[in-house]
Amino acid sequence: MSKVILKPGREKSLLKRHPWIYSGAIGRVEGAPVNGSTVEVCASSGEFLAWGALSQESQLALRIWSFERNAVIDRDFFAEKLRQSMVLRQQLNIPQRASAWRLCASEADGLPGITIDVYNDYAVVQLTSAGAEVHRSELVQALLELHPWRGIYERSDVPVRKYEKLPERTGVLHGEMPPPRLEVHEDTRKFYVDIINGHKSGFYCDQRESRSMVQRFSANRNVLNLFSYTGGFGVAAALGNARNVINVDSSAPALEMAAANFELNKIASERYENITADCFSFLRKCRGEKRKFDLIVLDPPKLVDSMRNMNKGCRAYKDAMLQSFHLLPPGGLLFTFSCSGLVTRELFAKIAADAACDATCDARIVAELGQGADHPVSTAFPEARYLKGLMIMRCN
Ligand code: SAH
Repeated sequence: MSKVILKPGREKSLLKRHPWIYSGAIGRVEGAPVNGSTVEVCASSGEFLAWGALSQESQLALRIWSFERNAVIDRDFFAEKLRQSMVLRQQLNIPQRASAWRLCASEADGLPGITIDVYNDYAVVQLTSAGAEVHRSELVQALLELHPWRGIYERSDVPVRKYEKLPERTGVLHGEMPPPRLEVHEDTRKFYVDIINGHKSGFYCDQRESRSMVQRFSANRNVLNLFSYTGGFGVAAALGNARNVINVDSSAPALEMAAANFELNKIASERYENITADCFSFLRKCRGEKRKFDLIVLDPPKLVDSMRNMNKGCRAYKDAMLQSFHLLPPGGLLFTFSCSGLVTRELFAKIAADAACDATCDARIVAELGQGADHPVSTAFPEARYLKGLMIMRCN
């Protein structure tokens, strides 16, 4: 077994059970480990620290699989981790409430580089590290020990794989190809999910709790659902008796699916409209026309994807919120979200405050929102908290 010996003092993060080591912390490598293989990670004193997966092509050189001296990273290891992930979700009533949920949230579930979403009897796997990549078949075997899946599908078509010099990869890993429209449910809502071509693994399971909040507060409101994708928040609003719902997205295929989702939930066609447009322009157009909405959902894609784009992304969040405040009457509600991990909750609240100030609007944060319990955050790895949301009421 190859060994990686850290530079003096660089074991600190591992002692706090944070699962990453950057290449600059590595003192020397003993043996000739191949990319993605499991190595013993030692302090400069030679003391054992952890077993980790080596990523030779990445700045993020080591991701820890286990801090246990006698751990073996094999099929049984993955089976046990997945079993624990499943138990956690069951204890939190997730599979009981929804048929679309995250079974494995990478570092947060002790499996760095591995994300697994469940849609009924299909598991969708996303591998983002060299370490995860070399264990693909053991992971599939481990998944099959957990449940007799109808199909296991890989959606490793994510840009982060380029940091590991891994090509994008998709396809069936086991069983059947998922259908183009798989019907799933969460609470009282039903959705079609396209596992093969949809965003991420097909659906934004992480917004389940916030969709429920929107559903609770939509009665008799005129709802504008911006960056709607397949209409998740819009369906929630309509089922919560919104007077009407407008979904806006730049993607026509996403809105076609949104239309199908409204039909699936038996929402009368006169109660909703799907508009293919740029949300920023749409907001300005509405302001020009002096339109008002009683509830606005703002759930843009990741606008800050690197430190380099921090200012630009924050300006875009602020602009969208500022324009939204202009369209809200007193008592109107804004549900605003950021899935950019680099934008902290504090920063996001500050952006909202700046937007409210520029809109000369007296605004109150009435609830803090975020990713559901199937996207947990390990106490040792706070970076896992990427999704944050604010429910804000315009008071004047
Ligand atoms: N709220 C959705 C997820 C939104 S994902 C849900 O809960 O399911 C972000 C969406 O924003 C994508 O569907 C993408 O097509 C859309 N999008 C990105 N930039 C846009 C823009 N400038 N104007 C309109 N839509 C945009």
